[in-house]
Amino acid sequence: MTKKKKASKKIKNKILVAEKNEEAMVEGILEGSPDGIGVVVVRLECGCKKMAAVKKDGEPASKLIMYRDQAESICSKCKEDNGDFMRVTEAFIHWTKPEPSDAVKEKINAKVLGTMPVTN
Ligand SMILES: [Zn+2]
Repeated sequence: MTKKKKASKKIKNKILVAEKNEEAMVEGILEGSPDGIGVVVVRLECGCKKMAAVKKDGEPASKLIMYRDQAESICSKCKEDNGDFMRVTEAFIHWTKPEPSDAVKEKINAKVLGTMPVTN
Protein backbone atom coordinates (compact mmCIF):
# COMPACT_ATOMS: atom_id res chain seq x y z
CA MET A 1 0.00 0.00 0.00
CA THR A 2 1.34 3.37 -0.92
CA LYS A 3 0.54 6.31 1.25
CA LYS A 4 -1.32 8.95 -0.66
CA LYS A 5 -0.67 12.58 -0.10
CA LYS A 6 -3.57 14.49 1.31
CA ALA A 7 -5.44 16.00 -1.56
CA SER A 8 -5.49 19.75 -1.39
CA LYS A 9 -8.63 19.74 -3.45
CA LYS A 10 -11.12 18.19 -1.13
CA ILE A 11 -14.20 16.67 -2.62
CA LYS A 12 -16.33 17.59 0.33
CA ASN A 13 -15.85 21.29 -0.37
CA LYS A 14 -18.03 20.81 -3.36
CA ILE A 15 -21.64 20.33 -2.46
CA LEU A 16 -23.00 17.49 -4.47
CA VAL A 17 -26.42 15.99 -4.18
CA ALA A 18 -28.01 13.00 -5.76
CA GLU A 19 -29.95 13.69 -8.90
CA LYS A 20 -33.54 12.52 -9.18
CA ASN A 21 -32.65 9.41 -11.13
CA GLU A 22 -29.85 8.64 -8.69
CA GLU A 23 -32.12 9.04 -5.70
CA ALA A 24 -34.26 6.08 -6.70
CA MET A 25 -31.13 3.97 -6.96
CA VAL A 26 -29.85 5.25 -3.62
CA GLU A 27 -33.11 4.38 -1.93
CA GLY A 28 -33.11 0.91 -3.40
CA ILE A 29 -29.60 0.32 -2.13
CA LEU A 30 -30.44 1.55 1.35
CA GLU A 31 -33.49 -0.66 1.49
CA GLY A 32 -31.30 -3.65 0.94
CA SER A 33 -28.64 -2.43 3.36
CA PRO A 34 -30.08 -2.02 6.85
CA ASP A 35 -26.65 -1.09 8.23
CA GLY A 36 -26.16 1.65 5.68
CA ILE A 37 -26.15 5.22 6.90
CA GLY A 38 -25.41 6.59 3.48
CA VAL A 39 -24.62 5.71 -0.09
CA VAL A 40 -21.42 6.55 -1.87
CA VAL A 41 -22.23 7.92 -5.30
CA VAL A 42 -19.42 7.94 -7.84
CA ARG A 43 -19.93 9.52 -11.25
CA LEU A 44 -17.62 8.53 -14.05
CA GLU A 45 -16.70 10.62 -17.07
CA CYS A 46 -18.35 8.10 -19.37
CA GLY A 47 -21.71 8.57 -17.66
CA CYS A 48 -21.73 5.32 -15.75
CA LYS A 49 -22.10 5.38 -11.99
CA LYS A 50 -20.96 3.38 -9.05
CA MET A 51 -22.82 3.21 -5.79
CA ALA A 52 -22.40 1.36 -2.54
CA ALA A 53 -23.95 1.73 0.88
CA VAL A 54 -21.61 2.62 3.69
CA LYS A 55 -21.84 1.75 7.38
CA LYS A 56 -21.25 4.19 10.21
CA ASP A 57 -17.68 2.95 10.58
CA GLY A 58 -16.98 3.69 6.94
CA GLU A 59 -17.02 0.06 5.86
CA PRO A 60 -19.14 -0.95 2.88
CA ALA A 61 -22.65 -2.04 3.79
CA SER A 62 -23.53 -3.37 0.36
CA LYS A 63 -22.00 -4.65 -2.79
CA LEU A 64 -20.68 -2.11 -5.23
CA ILE A 65 -23.27 -1.47 -7.88
CA MET A 66 -22.38 -0.14 -11.29
CA TYR A 67 -24.98 1.07 -13.67
CA ARG A 68 -25.70 3.46 -16.46
CA ASP A 69 -28.82 5.57 -16.74
CA GLN A 70 -31.22 4.48 -19.45
CA ALA A 71 -28.98 1.63 -20.47
CA GLU A 72 -29.10 -2.06 -19.89
CA SER A 73 -25.49 -2.29 -18.96
CA ILE A 74 -22.45 -0.20 -18.22
CA CYS A 75 -20.28 0.95 -21.11
CA SER A 76 -17.56 -1.18 -22.64
CA LYS A 77 -14.87 0.98 -21.09
CA CYS A 78 -16.21 0.30 -17.62
CA LYS A 79 -16.50 -3.38 -18.37
CA GLU A 80 -12.82 -3.26 -19.11
CA ASP A 81 -11.50 -1.20 -16.23
CA ASN A 82 -14.37 -1.50 -13.77
CA GLY A 83 -14.83 2.25 -13.63
CA ASP A 84 -11.27 3.14 -12.84
CA PHE A 85 -10.72 5.86 -10.25
CA MET A 86 -8.83 7.84 -12.86
CA ARG A 87 -12.08 8.39 -14.69
CA VAL A 88 -14.09 9.50 -11.69
CA THR A 89 -15.49 12.99 -12.14
CA GLU A 90 -17.49 13.35 -8.97
CA ALA A 91 -17.88 11.40 -5.78
CA PHE A 92 -19.92 12.09 -2.69
CA ILE A 93 -21.96 10.43 -0.02
CA HIS A 94 -25.70 10.70 0.11
CA TRP A 95 -26.64 10.48 3.80
CA THR A 96 -29.77 8.99 5.21
CA LYS A 97 -32.00 11.11 7.42
CA PRO A 98 -31.36 11.97 10.16
CA GLU A 99 -27.88 12.72 8.90
CA PRO A 100 -24.94 11.78 11.11
CA SER A 101 -22.99 14.49 12.89
CA ASP A 102 -20.43 16.48 10.92
CA ALA A 103 -17.64 14.72 12.77
CA VAL A 104 -18.93 11.32 11.73
CA LYS A 105 -19.50 12.49 8.18
CA GLU A 106 -16.01 13.86 7.96
CA LYS A 107 -14.51 10.63 9.23
CA ILE A 108 -16.42 8.52 6.76
CA ASN A 109 -15.76 10.95 3.92
CA ALA A 110 -12.05 10.73 4.60
CA LYS A 111 -12.16 6.98 4.79
CA VAL A 112 -14.30 6.41 1.75
CA LEU A 113 -13.42 9.31 -0.54
CA GLY A 114 -10.16 10.53 0.92
CA THR A 115 -8.00 8.09 -0.96
CA MET A 116 -9.71 8.70 -4.24
CA PRO A 117 -7.75 10.90 -6.60
CA VAL A 118 -9.82 13.77 -7.88
CA THR A 119 -9.35 14.89 -11.42
CA ASN A 120 -11.10 17.78 -13.02
ZN1 LIG B 1 -18.77 3.67 -18.33
